[in-house]
Amino acid sequence: MSDCIFCKIANREIPSEVVHEDDQAIAFKDINPVAPVHILVIPKKHYATLDAVPPAELGVVGHIHGIIQQLARDFGVAGGGYRVLNNCGPDAGQVVFHLHFHLIGGRTLTRLV
Ligand code: 5GP
Ligand code: ZN
Repeated sequence: MSDCIFCKIANREIPSEVVHEDDQAIAFKDINPVAPVHILVIPKKHYATLDAVPPAELGVVGHIHGIIQQLARDFGVAGGGYRVLNNCGPDAGQVVFHLHFHLIGGRTLTRLV
């Protein structure tokens, strides 16, 4: 998607602080962190939302969660705990329409549900 900001980050057309990259996914620090650790993990392939991922391609979602698990360890929040968040669609407040998962940690987080 030529006009997608996260595709541009994945293609390195827009700079970001990349903390992980492999053939399927890339992770980078959120530009507006809400906690000491706030990382976004995205598939390199463009999906607008989680809902837009075809069933046959949902493996990438598991792959991303493996990356999150590793990053939580690397950034020192695995022990204390952390939140993994996906805003899916307008009612959830999704702003960037390229599938992404937030890894948020490093402070006590207010419960959402
Ligand atoms: P959403 O509300 O769509 O789940 O979250 C989008 C997130 O992307 C926000 O936390 C926002 O700070 C982050 N973000 C938006 N634009 C950029 C950018 O250009 N670079 C980085 N690193 N993060 C961004
Ligand atoms: Zn995209």
